[in-house]
Amino acid sequence: MTEATAIRTGRSDELMARAARLFPGAVNSPVRAFRSVGGTPRVIERAAGARLWDMDGNEYIDYVGSWGPMILGHAHPDVIASLQQAAARGTSYGTPNPLEVELAEEIVAAMPSIERLRFVNSGTEAAMSALRVARGFTGRPKIIKLAGGYHGHADGLLVRAGSGAGGIGRPTSAGVTEATAADTLVAPYNDLDAVARLLDEHRGKVAALIVEPVAANVGVVPPADGYLAGLRRLTADAETLLVFDEVITGFRVARGGAQALFGVRPDLTVLGKIIGGGLPVGVYGGRADVMAVVAPDGPVYQAGTLSGNPLAMAAGLATLRALTDEAYEALEKYGAELEEGLSEHVEGLRVTARVARVGSLMTVFFDDDARFARFFHNMLDRGVMLPPSQQEAWFISAAHGESELEQTLAASRQAFEESR
Ligand code: PMP
Repeated sequence: MTEATAIRTGRSDELMARAARLFPGAVNSPVRAFRSVGGTPRVIERAAGARLWDMDGNEYIDYVGSWGPMILGHAHPDVIASLQQAAARGTSYGTPNPLEVELAEEIVAAMPSIERLRFVNSGTEAAMSALRVARGFTGRPKIIKLAGGYHGHADGLLVRAGSGAGGIGRPTSAGVTEATAADTLVAPYNDLDAVARLLDEHRGKVAALIVEPVAANVGVVPPADGYLAGLRRLTADAETLLVFDEVITGFRVARGGAQALFGVRPDLTVLGKIIGGGLPVGVYGGRADVMAVVAPDGPVYQAGTLSGNPLAMAAGLATLRALTDEAYEALEKYGAELEEGLSEHVEGLRVTARVARVGSLMTVFFDDDARFARFFHNMLDRGVMLPPSQQEAWFISAAHGESELEQTLAASRQAFEESR
């Protein structure tokens, strides 16, 4: 579908009207609502490989990838088989189970900085818990985050956050008290001096600095040369824990995440998305001495009815096992070719947009949101589903191949022309 044909959306629209009577904004997570681009979301009924199908039977090449987890593509046969086998054995026991140990061993093998870990059910929960652990371990009240960094929707982290929170133009959510926000210090991303000043000004008070090692909730912004190593040095000097939020980058920019790619060892790591293979999973973990404060070993309480859920563990395990070196090579190759093709269009057509990429994370950042909105709808009508906000990364999967690349570049050429 490279021609912008008149697309039928009747059944999607009808369902969204029912959803609108039920859910705030008709959705269960804000960015899905298309507020940044206008229009009505397509309701997806089925997915396979790199493609999605909506209720009206329209087909899309998918660059949302469920916002990160679907690195193998949708309905990967190994993941589905593991899930079916696990489901037949029962869906939750609330006791230890073998799969949680196996998945944890895979994670620890890929990320040696993680000596001990705890499974939770979302990235939000993981980041929130990691910071509680950091405060419990250090006995200090404050944290530093970077402007535009998104770490889920825990109160203390909704301060100058990116993702949907940035997109709606409210840096701090209503419902977060000033007292809570006051314990969150914010520095600009890629600015070591600003972090040094904060650590100095609040000497002995900062429990942790949390960072997305590749910023991916304000478009994709790679770390400046030496930035992550600089954060490591500054936090070590201040005896502040360095927390890498690798919810997006973990098992994505490299098997060992950004910490492997950039060679920096954090004290704690937060993971989600890929490690659950499309089911709800998060993890926080790191130094054994720090994790020793977590209940029942230590005084920091954190628990979960469905944590380590066997279905979620099965999906995550199948995903990590299918993520071979060849899969990472394919992701890099597709990413490089897509970046090159898009950049050629941007230059050739003199579009005011920037293309940024780290591995299989991409952004095309337009100078204004209205242009992006036109580009987005042009792509959608040509069968390419992009994240409906330019704050969000495009996610490439290992199922994206030659035909997807060709179709995406053909569609984007026309979409760029029409969005100028
Ligand atoms: N950290 C980062 C870097 C994220 O991108 C996200 C979600 N996109 C989260 C944390 C929160 O994860 P979840 O949506 O699973 O709560």
